[in-house]
Amino acid sequence: MARSVSTGNALVPGEDGQLGAFDVVIVGGGAAGITVAAGLRKYSRGGRNLSVAIIEPSDRHFYQPGWTLVGAGVFTMKQTERPEASLIPPGVCWIRAAASAFEPERDRVTLPNGMHVGYRALVVCPGLQLNWSAIDGLTETLGRNGVCSNYSADHAEYTWRCIQALDGGNAVFTQPAMPIKCAGAPQKIMYLAADHLRRHGKLRDVGIDFMLTGEAIFGVPFFVPPLLATAKGYGIRLNYRHTLTAVDGPARKAIFSVTGADGAVSELVKPFSMLHVTPPQGAPDVIRNSPLANEAGWVSVDPATLRHTRYANVFSLGDAAGTSNAKTAAAVRLQAPVVVRRVVALLTGGPATATYDGYGSCPLTTEYGKVLLAEFTYGGKVEPSFPLDPRVPRKSNWLLKTRFLPYLYWNRMLRGSEIDIPHKPRRFEDAR
Ligand SMILES: Cc1cc2nc3c(=O)[nH]c(=O)nc-3n(C[C@H](O)[C@H](O)[C@H](O)COP(=O)(O)OP(=O)(O)OC[C@H]3O[C@@H](n4cnc5c(N)ncnc54)[C@H](O)[C@@H]3O)c2cc1C
Repeated sequence: MARSVSTGNALVPGEDGQLGAFDVVIVGGGAAGITVAAGLRKYSRGGRNLSVAIIEPSDRHFYQPGWTLVGAGVFTMKQTERPEASLIPPGVCWIRAAASAFEPERDRVTLPNGMHVGYRALVVCPGLQLNWSAIDGLTETLGRNGVCSNYSADHAEYTWRCIQALDGGNAVFTQPAMPIKCAGAPQKIMYLAADHLRRHGKLRDVGIDFMLTGEAIFGVPFFVPPLLATAKGYGIRLNYRHTLTAVDGPARKAIFSVTGADGAVSELVKPFSMLHVTPPQGAPDVIRNSPLANEAGWVSVDPATLRHTRYANVFSLGDAAGTSNAKTAAAVRLQAPVVVRRVVALLTGGPATATYDGYGSCPLTTEYGKVLLAEFTYGGKVEPSFPLDPRVPRKSNWLLKTRFLPYLYWNRMLRGSEIDIPHKPRRFEDAR
């Protein structure tokens, strides 16, 4: 139980400089942290009362999957935002700070003021880091000069203004090296922009370019042919092995490093009317520089149990976890119950059998009103929830994306409900 003095949500440190000690400390109160906290509260009922704290610096929580729709003018940013305080489950202590260091040998997390928070079990889910400053000139011009990004709460609405203003020149969409959160998001907004232009008779006036660091439009080969067909249908030019390195906003020029098939690297200067940037992404520095990190900087966990590979009382899920699933809220929905069960088993001595199969999903908005729903597990195994060919963009999936999934997130998942539509391997004809 907590050793600190608690006044509402405010904690006063003990004499040892320890802010508190809890059964469970959760680092990060985003999609993963809130879902795990809510799940633990449900499990705590019936005599297994666990003290739980969330370390989270932000007072705002966003439904990030909605940002594609914000950039396309379907949602407002306000619709994707709630106060963090309204989501912290009753009885859970919110420590409003960012974790600055991890000391797993001493079962404690350090805060920027030097205070420590102790735990019996630790759940690490601070998301991933968006490395905006890795692109020269980007931070100075983001939100102006036609430079926008759905990856920023401050600039996704500007994406929609840029799309509406398009009437000539190039609309350029970038995608950095993987992994990124929601790997399909860079192309979702591109298709919606193209569809908007088509509906307004301007598609022929604007050249659309997709500039990808990688060599494939999507990581799961099963979904590549329909996505290539979608891009072709809009006349989108695909430019593989092109990495954005710098932006000159006032001159409306984007600079790319291009790696040729022979490995030779050259530079390309691309003029744009609109530039949608997906920033380079990586593990948070606080994880990368900690004993919890794997070689790539993510939290080193077993892919099935989500338990740390070296510290038995540490778990991780969400974007920060060093697992190979798609970094999505959909993944969090299925990871959280595994972490909750395993933490409870660890603390109460029960059996620990729950495992995660790598499920993730990516609803690709191929046009206004239609979505191709890509669902898959570890190794890119296609495992849809519905017995319909998932390569076909459908109206029903648009309703899922715009209505059902936001409802599921706010009203079920973040409240600890484990509602799920079971996914499984299914066979479909080869041809679309
Ligand atoms: C444009 C876009 C489109 C997307 N589309 C989809 C989609 O269609 N479907 C889908 O399933 N997913 C989608 N996602 C991905 C999804 O939003 C993320 O995968 C999901 O939010 C991950 O949850 P998380 O809790 O790991 O990270 P987050 O939800 O990002 O939460 C991390 C939390 O940790 C906090 N934090 C950071 N550093 C620290 C620290 N040092 N100490 C304590 N707390 C810290 C942050 O403030 C934040 O609240 C999309 C994301 C974006 C940006």
